Amino acid sequence: MHELLIATRNQGKLREFTAIFAGLDVTLRTLDDLGIPDEIEETGTTFAANAILKAEGYLALSGLPTLADDSGLEVAALNSAPGVYSARYGGVKGEAQLRYLLDQMKDVPWHARLARFVCVIALARPGHPTEVVAGTLPGVIEHEPRGSGGFGYDPLFYLLDANCTMAELPAERKNQISHRAVAARAARVVLARWANEL
Ligand code: IMP
Repeated sequence: MHELLIATRNQGKLREFTAIFAGLDVTLRTLDDLGIPDEIEETGTTFAANAILKAEGYLALSGLPTLADDSGLEVAALNSAPGVYSARYGGVKGEAQLRYLLDQMKDVPWHARLARFVCVIALARPGHPTEVVAGTLPGVIEHEPRGSGGFGYDPLFYLLDANCTMAELPAERKNQISHRAVAARAARVVLARWANEL
């Protein structure tokens, strides 16, 4: 039985990873399980840089193989902003952040509102190079928020295939198609390989 530190304090993310890694010979540990209070700052300018910073930083603190992720929203018409600054975009949070994004896009017509959610996962273990996988989900930025599920930019993220916003999807469906789910399924392949190498 192998241990893997999931470097997050977000219970929702932990639940998603637990579901996707079910059946692997690995026991998931959290920062709180290990009593690690340290916060590693996301000072990178790319999702990958931040995910690697956290995975290698928490590996150094814990000595355990560690998974860390970084994610956010990229909007084509805004030169891929908010990107790694998604959580602090516009210096505001919650509903105000959605208003800020809509304001930035008030002159952008429907056909130019292409966006994507991105999730990068870094997997670090002692004595080996860190491995990186990614997942994306394409969508279109709505003109008004719709739906109450999910979090962050979900109410503005319209999914062409589903004909609704991410916030209107049932949680189970979001957890199947999300950028994080795509990246986590790729991470599962890496973890399965690690288990065979040990
Ligand atoms: P982090 O990966 O937890 O650092 O996410 C950074 C930010 O990206 C969040 O605060 C959200 O604004 C945005 N974000 C990441 N994933 C999602 C998602 O699934 N839905 C909506 N917003 C997201």
